[in-house]
Amino acid sequence: MIGFWISRPEKVARFANQMTRVVPAMYRPSSIWQGEIMRRTIALTLRFFGLLKFDRLARLSSKYPSTGELPEMDVVVVRDGDVAKWACLTCPGGCGKMIALSLNPTRRPKWQVTLDFWNRPTFKPSVHQLNECGCHFWITKGKIEWCPGGRPTA
Ligand SMILES: [Zn+2]
Repeated sequence: MIGFWISRPEKVARFANQMTRVVPAMYRPSSIWQGEIMRRTIALTLRFFGLLKFDRLARLSSKYPSTGELPEMDVVVVRDGDVAKWACLTCPGGCGKMIALSLNPTRRPKWQVTLDFWNRPTFKPSVHQLNECGCHFWITKGKIEWCPGGRPTA
């Protein structure tokens, strides 16, 4: 079994990437958080071996992160009880600013985030920074996808 996994990395990669049990972040009970840590460890290991692709992974939190405690890889979904309120991430354009996207359906602008099995986030719509960095990108299955002209040239 182990031998199969080692000799067929492309099969492992396809399997890993098809694990798309997409669930809106707000419907995930926090009691599965323990399992999430294990899943995250496996996801990072698969990524290390090039078997799973992502730039960002989501984690759930009950409190709003401060800029200093937001690792670049993390997308923190801030929830109040079972209601997802915010998704916080560090701007991928290099300015280092924290971006807080409202997930509240009654506010504008608002975003929808879905997580796959590995907690790779997909955001709709795209994120367009209105500050000087002007980043414009999509996040799909945890990958940053730059819009034409949306990537700052440093
Ligand atoms: Zn920026």
